[in-house]
Amino acid sequence: MIYHVKELQFNARVSKPDPRFARLLLEQFGGGNGELKAAMQYFVQSFACKNTYPDKYDMLMDIAMEELSHLEIVGATIQMLLTGINGELKDAADSAEINEMMKGKATKEDFIQEATINPQFGVLSGGSPLLTDSNGVPWTGAYVNANGDPTVDLRSNIAAESRAKIVYEYLLKFTDDPYVKETLIFLMTREVTHFQQFEAALDTIQPNFPPGILQSNPDYSNLYYNLSKGEDVRGPWNEGKSTRLKETWEYVENPLEQVTETCGLTKMKDKKTERPKNKVKEMDEKLSKERSKEVKDANPPKDQQWTNYNI
Ligand code: MN
Ligand code: MN
Repeated sequence: MIYHVKELQFNARVSKPDPRFARLLLEQFGGGNGELKAAMQYFVQSFACKNTYPDKYDMLMDIAMEELSHLEIVGATIQMLLTGINGELKDAADSAEINEMMKGKATKEDFIQEATINPQFGVLSGGSPLLTDSNGVPWTGAYVNANGDPTVDLRSNIAAESRAKIVYEYLLKFTDDPYVKETLIFLMTREVTHFQQFEAALDTIQPNFPPGILQSNPDYSNLYYNLSKGEDVRGPWNEGKSTRLKETWEYVENPLEQVTETCGLTKMKDKKTERPKNKVKEMDEKLSKERSKEVKDANPPKDQQWTNYNI
């Protein structure tokens, strides 16, 4: 059950209308890294966790609802930033009010220019937020990442929070309105908070690397391919030990030669690997049993009911 409360999570305010910034802010309303994307991503992901990871289900739902609250704050801010466009345009029969507004500092040309910053505000939504990004590209479910494995989904979420954070940081450069800045800093801060919450949740699932069950083939897992010409740089991504599997990186200076010599990597039998193949196989089988037991234990074989009512 979803229940709406009319108070905003954060008291959104604006000092003055600013249709230009309203257009930019649409990026966080209906854009690819915006609040609706975040809300829908965590909401959709939560279903797979309901039985197997009820703790993650709770967290995903809580954060999904907070993202909807952010969407509401962004929408409210856009609506206030469009004051003048949304009010005056509706009063189509009375030209006195619009004429009044065009007196003084703001000229008619300025007003028209402001209104056409995003033509859709003027001619489609009448000065209200739309589910598009700042360029008018409609929101799509394709922005939502959900793969049914919490170690994959939580990583997607850490990335999503990083992107949402940086978009707020960019947006902050385009407004001087102290109230709007305050709201943006709140929204940006919450993404930093969520980043850590998803990271902490990921840590509670062990092992969580590699994502899923199969451990990966040690013949290939430690190879670094030098596939660009020019200055070659070495760093912890291609020398020393790998971050998770702790294998020594093998820098393949001449990939073409290696591919040819091994018949397209199919004849690497003599390769010494730090993760013995029998251990990898054992781990695949062990984890496979564990995870499938988790799922089987969590899903009752007979009648199902999503909620248990205590009556
Ligand atoms: Mn948010
Ligand atoms: Mn967030």
